[in-house]
Amino acid sequence: MSSAATRPAAPDDLWSVDEHLEDILSAVRPLEPIELQLLDAQGCVLVEDVMVPVSLPPFDNSSMDGYAVRVADIAGAGEEFPAVLEVVGDVAAGAADPVRVGPGQAARIMTGAPLPPGAETVVPVEWTDGGLGEGPVSGMRSRSLAPQGAEGHVHVYRSAAARAHVRARGSDVKAGDLALEAGTVLGPPQLALLAAIGRGTVRVRPRPRVVVLSTGSELVQPGEELGPGQIHDSNSFALTAAARDAGAIAYRVGAVADDAETLRSTIEDQLIRADLLVTTGGVSVGAYDVVKEALSYAGDADEAGSGVEFRRLAMQPGKPQGFGSIGPDHIPLLALPGNPVSSYVSFELFVRPAIRTLSGLTDVHRPRARAALTADEALRSPRGRRQFLRGVHADGKVTPVGGAGSHLVAALARANALIVVPEDVESVEPGTEVEVVLLG
Ligand code: AMP
Ligand code: MG
Repeated sequence: MSSAATRPAAPDDLWSVDEHLEDILSAVRPLEPIELQLLDAQGCVLVEDVMVPVSLPPFDNSSMDGYAVRVADIAGAGEEFPAVLEVVGDVAAGAADPVRVGPGQAARIMTGAPLPPGAETVVPVEWTDGGLGEGPVSGMRSRSLAPQGAEGHVHVYRSAAARAHVRARGSDVKAGDLALEAGTVLGPPQLALLAAIGRGTVRVRPRPRVVVLSTGSELVQPGEELGPGQIHDSNSFALTAAARDAGAIAYRVGAVADDAETLRSTIEDQLIRADLLVTTGGVSVGAYDVVKEALSYAGDADEAGSGVEFRRLAMQPGKPQGFGSIGPDHIPLLALPGNPVSSYVSFELFVRPAIRTLSGLTDVHRPRARAALTADEALRSPRGRRQFLRGVHADGKVTPVGGAGSHLVAALARANALIVVPEDVESVEPGTEVEVVLLG
């Protein structure tokens, strides 16, 4: 799965951010399509061209509450000389067999009701006396249709051209037209169109199922008291939420203690519901770097091609990373570093594009922009590392928040962008234009 053998040799044995990303994206494939109910398909990528089976609207219908009449019967009608027509019945929305409108007649019609046979146009109720026999009124009237039966007569004070206030059959889409093209992302308006043309299910790529595991014997669930040396597990919340935000169905697995056997069996149990696994922590060179220990073993024990490779990236934060696949189905696994900012930045750069690739999206990256750096002093960045600093981006400017420390969760919570400082840049003066990743 890994292209380690073919990557260009880096003198100091570090992978570049781009090489690592390329390695991941070349290994991850869009999920196989399935048929889903409309609401389950929200946010998914359509894989079929959907054609229109019947025209919309399916029949000529009224766009107003009013009277369905013949054009000749209201020709020349005005305030002084209204047309007086016999009201022969009601046509409500859903009427299957509407009354026929003959010469000198009108049918009371509601919005969305079919234009009855014999009628050629619709006059809105505001142009009439509403069948109340009140006589002419000047100006635009605010009127509603009389609540009682439609018998009797209606006075019409204005003429109308043929098919006025009529929504023609097929004026929205025609039978045989392309409703939605394969590749369309199904948002609310697209689901509306599918429903309108009568589709109950559609063929889409499913949302990827992403399992998030954090590791660390020091981790305690939020809501529980901290003992000496303990901290609350924040990574699994950040990354589960971020996975959801990227369009995944995300499962948060509680923090796993730094024990290789426990981690291995926990991961094995999760494989059944995972299209992608994400772990945090335990990937550096410390004595308790459990992910490295557990997955290197699992890699060896698996059939050929499966296994996780641990590498160091020319990046700050987020230097130690693992990537590979696991289990008989070769589920991709990204092992992220444990520091909260490192794991979140790593997620944005590597996991999010992987999730979006699994989803079948072609636009997998966060948008980027250029912004003028606003700061009191120059930013410092280590040579040979691509640095990602947290920033607040607005109006073409970006201001760093917090420092470079990868434990600064509070600053991360205020940021809406990552400031990218390239490998060959060691200092950025205020006012300089920098690249920013917009976190949305
Ligand atoms: P590690 O990579 O496991 O050595 O973790 C690096 C640092 O990140 C340590 O200070 C950990 O306590 C902290 N850390 C690891 N996992 C989490 C987590 N899930 N939530 C918050 N902090 C964590
Ligand atoms: Mg740890």
